[in-house]
Amino acid sequence: MAPHSKSSTAASAKGKATPAKASKNNNKKKKTKKTTQESTPPKDNPLTPEEFDKSYNELIEAAELIPQGDQHTNHVSIATILKDRKMKALCYGILSISSLGPNDYRRKNIKLSDIVKLFDKAGVDIVPFRGGKDKKECIKNLKAYFKKHENNISHFLTAMFVYTIRFKQGACAVCGKVIEDLLFGALGYESNHWEDDKDSNDCGGEGRKCFGVNAHNFGKAFVHIMTELVKTQLECWECHNRYGPTLCKILPDRCFGVYDFPPRPYCVVQDSPEGMALYDCTKSLLLGEVESYSYEYVTNTILRDTFFTDIRDATLFNKERWESITSLVARQEMIMRFHLQAEKRLAGPCYLCKKTKFATLKSMGGGDNHHVDEDNKKLNPSECASRAKVAKKLDVKPADLGVVEWLDFARFENRKTFLLDKCCHMKVTYDDKWRKEFAGMMRSDGYDVDNNTGEIFVKP
Ligand SMILES: [Zn+2]
Ligand SMILES: [Zn+2]
Repeated sequence: MAPHSKSSTAASAKGKATPAKASKNNNKKKKTKKTTQESTPPKDNPLTPEEFDKSYNELIEAAELIPQGDQHTNHVSIATILKDRKMKALCYGILSISSLGPNDYRRKNIKLSDIVKLFDKAGVDIVPFRGGKDKKECIKNLKAYFKKHENNISHFLTAMFVYTIRFKQGACAVCGKVIEDLLFGALGYESNHWEDDKDSNDCGGEGRKCFGVNAHNFGKAFVHIMTELVKTQLECWECHNRYGPTLCKILPDRCFGVYDFPPRPYCVVQDSPEGMALYDCTKSLLLGEVESYSYEYVTNTILRDTFFTDIRDATLFNKERWESITSLVARQEMIMRFHLQAEKRLAGPCYLCKKTKFATLKSMGGGDNHHVDEDNKKLNPSECASRAKVAKKLDVKPADLGVVEWLDFARFENRKTFLLDKCCHMKVTYDDKWRKEFAGMMRSDGYDVDNNTGEIFVKP
């Protein structure tokens, strides 16, 4: 496909956000009639309507690159959504407000009700987006979120905009499952980069991910969020493929053995007989000559020494993949990933709702390790499987990182966490009420957190 300059949309928009350019057009927006009261005019929308038109059309072009034929008919594509003139007006409105300087009196005067109205004009009710059992509670929660971002109104606007897009997308692009819960626009759904997962850190390629469109990044400039968002389609957590296209093809759609472990934190998992046997197995594999192992040797060892009864439930590689990847580090990383997946399996269903069972190896990709003490988080599990990333954290050269040291680091990181499904993880991370609920459950179940290390422990 011809290279398309999506990143140039952001770049050009950003490039034009200079005071010189901006001052040319400070009468373009209706709320900004009185702009001459100060010697330096307040910054307005960084784009003139003409420039905005051009950038907006580029966004639509980028969105149209997503192959719609593959999408479920319940799902509305971003391109379709953006072509609605009301959405275009909404984007312009958001961009205008976001561009006001932090001390601009107009920005300070913007009330939540103004923003609700702005979205309302585009046919979107943002009130339910922060959850609540009834309208009153929804408004309370939305107000609290608005207040939290009082000093960074663009964060609030971006969140509402991303939720709006998800809400309008309506359903999973893969299986067609319709959104049930409007918390965060679509609880348990993700904006998936359509051409991501290519084991590449390249940024700016067609459809490639530069950063995730999620709450971690809502503080970024609105134009950047937009250029990222148009590369995505909405997927439910069960369909959202976290393993990339290659692995997705080889992972089975069912589970072959029966693994009925109760929901429990990793500290309990690791100290259980199955957890200890698993540790010994992984350690012995890593300490051997991993490069020369045959597929049969690795898989027989796993089946002999661990709780797995079928190898297809255990490894993210098959014979072909194992044999095609022969470098020492890549093979060690495959074993590390096996280990981390196996610990997930031992952690049972989602700890918060107890309902979500990660039935298949593939579905376990929808299970997140929730760090209770975020301050003590060093790496997430996928990073723990990377020799280079762990070495960097431990401040040693990758070649000097011992395999046991590496394994112990990854295991200790797990000890700080509970396994949650995607929906519950979002609730606990971004919703104070759920965070309290989770903390209460954890404590009443007899666990606590060591504030110095972040480790979960069983209360004596
Ligand atoms: Zn789905
Ligand atoms: Zn759950």
